[in-house]
Amino acid sequence: MMNVVGFLFVPLLLAPGVLTLERAEHDYYKYHPMEKISTWMTQMEKDHPDVVTIVDYGKTYENRTISLLRIGLKSEAKKKAIWMDCGIHAREWIAPAFCQYFVRQILQTYKTDAKMEAMMTNMDFYVTPVLNIDGYMYSWKDISTRLWRKNRSPGPSGGCYGTDLNRNFDANWGTVGVSSDCSSNIYCGRGPISEPEAQAVTYFVGSRKEDFLCFLTIHSYGQLLLVPYGHPNFTAPNYEELMNVGKGAAEAIWKVHGKNYTVGTSPDVLYANSGSSRDWARMQDIPLTFTFELRDNGTYGFELPEDQIQPTCEEAYHGALHIITYAHDKTFSGAAAAAAATLWTMLLAVGVSGANLL
Ligand SMILES: [Zn+2]
Repeated sequence: MMNVVGFLFVPLLLAPGVLTLERAEHDYYKYHPMEKISTWMTQMEKDHPDVVTIVDYGKTYENRTISLLRIGLKSEAKKKAIWMDCGIHAREWIAPAFCQYFVRQILQTYKTDAKMEAMMTNMDFYVTPVLNIDGYMYSWKDISTRLWRKNRSPGPSGGCYGTDLNRNFDANWGTVGVSSDCSSNIYCGRGPISEPEAQAVTYFVGSRKEDFLCFLTIHSYGQLLLVPYGHPNFTAPNYEELMNVGKGAAEAIWKVHGKNYTVGTSPDVLYANSGSSRDWARMQDIPLTFTFELRDNGTYGFELPEDQIQPTCEEAYHGALHIITYAHDKTFSGAAAAAAATLWTMLLAVGVSGANLL
């Protein structure tokens, strides 16, 4: 009799524990190594099979697969798209943490929020949690490699490694704010898109560039929202629009935890540079391209403590949402008002930009 009772009760007692182990919650407020992020991506696809699809779109130098999550609700109409990539620079760990948070937020929000539901019906979100996978894994290796920035391809002369992927895109490549020395942190590579990670983005986005309304690339640190272009001699044709939308995003960020984000071009608020993915995307006629430089202002720099992940993600989410909502509404609602705003922007642009790049 005792044995029968034991036999009956043991599975019942074990069951909740087993269930908890299998469904262990992903901790969005910790930094995760690449393996954990890959597992999380697979889980997202499993948990939301109608909404989330993993898309492989390239290989790193060390032959790892670069993947993104395509997130959207089914629609008969042709959809527009939003791009977001994180982790192009290895040491900026808060960036991949933000991409994970962003994905979770939109997947939670659309179920109860009609606006998010409309945006996910009209647009697909393409989110790459870690673009520079080799570099990210290297930054996790040990304390001596924690601050690695570049990818891991060998330089031309041997003895040095890594190209700065955010200097490798085909946007005034190799002109300002770069180095031709492979041991430099801003080595721009052997030529435009010489690196497989930059190629992956270029070919994927380039093959459907007319779909993308918005290109957001997430970095740290400095609390900045950077608009094109990094080259001081060129001005984006919609510079005024980019600045206005950026300032709206900075205000949305400020409202969450009172952090100040500065909006401007790289040469105006940081330093001149060339070959960035943001500039390349704008040159492909994607209208709203921004670089986010998340917290902080230098106290911890790239090694932002984990207790700041949550507030950093919360505020940046509202900043990103401001830009994405603007992009959506300009295309899908209030078309007349948006057209008037565009005309005004064009009139202003004629006055302020003598050297349009496009
Ligand atoms: Zn960066």
